[in-house]
Amino acid sequence: MDFESKADSLLKLMTLEEKVGQMCLYTSDWDVTGPSINRGYEELIRAGRVGAIFNAYTTEYVRSLQKIAVEETRLGIPLLFGYDVIHGHRTIFPIPLGQSASWDTASIRKSEQIAAAEAMSQGINWVFTPMVDIARDPRWGRVSEGSGEDTWLGSIISATRVKGLQHREHDYPSLLACVKHFAAYGAAQAGRDYHTVDMSERSLREWYLPPYKSAIDAGVATLMTSFNEISGVPSTANQWLLTDLLRNEWKFKGFVVSDYTAIEEIIKHGVAKDLAEAGRLALKAGVDMDMQDEAYQHHLAGLVQKGDVNEADIDRSVKRILIAKYKLGLFDDPYLYCNPERERATLLTAEHRSFARKFVSQSCVLLKNENQTLPLPASIKSVALIGPLGDSKVDMLGNWSAAGRAEECVTLLEGLGNNLPESTSIKYVKGCEIDSEKNDNIDDAVRLAASSDYVILALGEGGYMSGEASSRSEIGLPGLQEELALAVLKTGKPVAVVLFNGRPLSIPKLDSLAPAILVTWFGGTEAGNGIADVLTGKYNPSGKLTMTFPLSVGQIPVFYNEKSTGRPIDPSQPDEKYKSKYLDIPNAPLYPFGYGLSYTTFEYSPIAINDTVFREGEVIIASVDIKNTGKHDGEEIVQLYVRDLIGDVTRPLKELKGFQKIMLTKGQATKVTFTLTLDELAYYHQDMHYGWDPGEFELFIGTSSDDTRKVTFTVR
Ligand code: BGC
Repeated sequence: MDFESKADSLLKLMTLEEKVGQMCLYTSDWDVTGPSINRGYEELIRAGRVGAIFNAYTTEYVRSLQKIAVEETRLGIPLLFGYDVIHGHRTIFPIPLGQSASWDTASIRKSEQIAAAEAMSQGINWVFTPMVDIARDPRWGRVSEGSGEDTWLGSIISATRVKGLQHREHDYPSLLACVKHFAAYGAAQAGRDYHTVDMSERSLREWYLPPYKSAIDAGVATLMTSFNEISGVPSTANQWLLTDLLRNEWKFKGFVVSDYTAIEEIIKHGVAKDLAEAGRLALKAGVDMDMQDEAYQHHLAGLVQKGDVNEADIDRSVKRILIAKYKLGLFDDPYLYCNPERERATLLTAEHRSFARKFVSQSCVLLKNENQTLPLPASIKSVALIGPLGDSKVDMLGNWSAAGRAEECVTLLEGLGNNLPESTSIKYVKGCEIDSEKNDNIDDAVRLAASSDYVILALGEGGYMSGEASSRSEIGLPGLQEELALAVLKTGKPVAVVLFNGRPLSIPKLDSLAPAILVTWFGGTEAGNGIADVLTGKYNPSGKLTMTFPLSVGQIPVFYNEKSTGRPIDPSQPDEKYKSKYLDIPNAPLYPFGYGLSYTTFEYSPIAINDTVFREGEVIIASVDIKNTGKHDGEEIVQLYVRDLIGDVTRPLKELKGFQKIMLTKGQATKVTFTLTLDELAYYHQDMHYGWDPGEFELFIGTSSDDTRKVTFTVR
């Protein structure tokens, strides 16, 4: 029998209460003695009134809860076990924003495969990831969980993550991934978490929706709603979004879960008067499972009895949930994720650690490197490591660290110790706290710097200054860190700044004074070793920003694919008054999308293109010759952008449409070729039809969104 028929047969045996139970998801807890669950939830499981539990892991614990569901309930329907496995499970990888800066889809996919394997080994069969919200406002703390500002790159990474997470190896079952937060959660006004989202349908479809669609096309099993409203309708009550678009237009077949208490929040949004009404709206919109609200638990059956909700709508949701459980194989073996031997053999293996270390290096972005300050010269005999992020294990985890453990993280101090020659002395002074006005020992830091050959400044945000409910209004260095840095820089010693950050930072002053800056995000378990590999030159940095670093908070939102406006600045007359600009700061950001240096240099030839005029069905083939002209072997991320010069609606100045990551040994040259179909020039017109039209286009290839070669072509 196929899963559909199996689900139908089971559904026929279920009471209304049991059906509603399948639609309820509750949290488990973790206290000093280990995993634990609220007694009330345990009783609900026993009564067959829970479909899934989240935040529960370890084989033993999951088995104990599953046993209640399977052995003590009337129908023995197994539970799903969900968890936020956002950048690794026990082996923690760089935060997702950092991962995206690697532009390395093979590594991203592998990290998700490892995360899934580790999570499954601890009883988890459902992960609340990937988070694919496009964001253009770095004040929003959750930019750390996403892949940056670009829709095209975000869509590729979204599909990559789903394939990695839901990957099936040998006979092992794969878990359910959950794309989130649907939709446009990253467009919160003023970068304030949970804030209002308001935009045209064109912007929504063009910039925000494609990464969710891409996850669906890649087969993602489930989807989570978002907390925000869009243009007046809370997502969790948005029938257009969750049914018309998601089901009817996109043909999504999996189940939809609300975000944490998002159903109840429909009341606070002001479109439902009580929990029953909120539950009714959520179900009607298309929410199949209620996360932590008790709206469905307490009200759905009553709403059916009153005739306010159709039981058929409940059946439809339950069927989707049951099918997911069948697909996982849970009905054949509800304990299939509960094997302690597999758990021991899978978590934090040497192989996982060694991959994590490489991934840390791949995610680092070198912003600045004057006088070849980096890599650390071999002649250095004494290194001063200064700054509050130099030796903090817990901050290396970043936000959402699943089963990751701070004590298993390698700090930069440890990483340097592991990787610098024994004869090099490494001394550490904290200098100041991450975010406090208390001047601990800036003077000691300056003294240490003055007596050392070389200084590494470990500065940035704390791991919990980004992520959920962690918006910031100023995105510079918190506390006294800038003061510390400036005092140390005054010593005149060679200084490399290592930044730890969950978002783009606005650091113009530091940038103007520090000779070298390496962005390292929050690297996870192997942070210190991976960063040390970059600092010592064992790994030549290759990462490129996937989110613009603003010069000033006043520029936000600032992103590379902006429009021309009717009054763009004329570069030859930058001071002209009535132009789209500021009186006090330039329009250009500190560092743009796509930017990142290497220890070597690459030379780009002019672009060769196969023709200048293209017609329907023809492909555009563009290539450049790239040569490694520096002194190190290195990787380059070659980027392709296009611009449609005249559209039916205004089009961006540049849009990413391709990239390739290549490796060149010193002196080596290669040809990099991109193929583009005309469909890739499509956009939403005034009448909202999606397609390309004839006209003039520009095609750019280069090393960063603001450093490209250009050719033009015509489409007839
Ligand atoms: C977050 C989600 C997360 C959920 C469950 C919510 O607060 O917005 O991203 O998956 O909690 O932990």
